[in-house]
Amino acid sequence: MTEKSFSNNSEDFSFIEENCKIIKDNISEAIAKSGRTDTVRFMAVTKTVSPEKVNFAASLGINLLGENRVQEFLSKYESYDKNCEVHFIGGLQSNKVKYIIDKVAMIHSVDNIKLVDEISKRAALCNKVMDVLIEVNIGGEKTKGGVLLENLDGLVSYCTDAANIELKGFMAIPPIESGKYFGQMEEIYQKYRSKYGEKINTLSMGMSNDYQQAILYGANIVRIGSALFGKRSY
Ligand SMILES: *Cc1c(COP(=O)(O)O)cnc(C)c1O
Repeated sequence: MTEKSFSNNSEDFSFIEENCKIIKDNISEAIAKSGRTDTVRFMAVTKTVSPEKVNFAASLGINLLGENRVQEFLSKYESYDKNCEVHFIGGLQSNKVKYIIDKVAMIHSVDNIKLVDEISKRAALCNKVMDVLIEVNIGGEKTKGGVLLENLDGLVSYCTDAANIELKGFMAIPPIESGKYFGQMEEIYQKYRSKYGEKINTLSMGMSNDYQQAILYGANIVRIGSALFGKRSY
């Protein structure tokens, strides 16, 4: 029994190592193709993935983790390799901010004023400046989180004025036909970077199916789950 479970585990783990190599190669290829000279961070998205697998990915040099669900994160984070930097990327209710504020280095999913207020308040309570991205609902899809384009400028201003918050850039989960939306996100990113300067330095977009394309449009964090850890059951 023990041996079998061991060999199952090691099979799973070598699969992750192979995927990791392929993804890193694909990222390098996309960077070369885009002619960019900056770097792209490879985030491992950990939803449904055991801490053992997450730590194995960390041992391969992936030191950035993306968390979606507060409960699941809290149950796993004590087990994570302490060298990992954790970002919160999922939909976040303001009443849950207090659970994650001291555990994450960035929140990618800021999309409303109430959430900004709560992050500001909780960050002040732990003497921290929280780096955030505004999530943009670039496809205007009713079922998705993110601020709609018509409300973006107001939220950006609100965020840049808030105490204990540093706006670092933007995040998006575009509709399937992502090319056009990635282009729009790149424009948004450049527009606010011109306005606020180089402290706006993060464009988080691209997932398992489209990260190479996202890199062509300037993404500098790609968030990858299933291409690294395998298909999720839900
Ligand atoms: C699940 C998830 C990802 C990764 O999705 P994959 O298609 O498995 O790579 C990226 N970003 C967010 C916000 C997610 O919820």
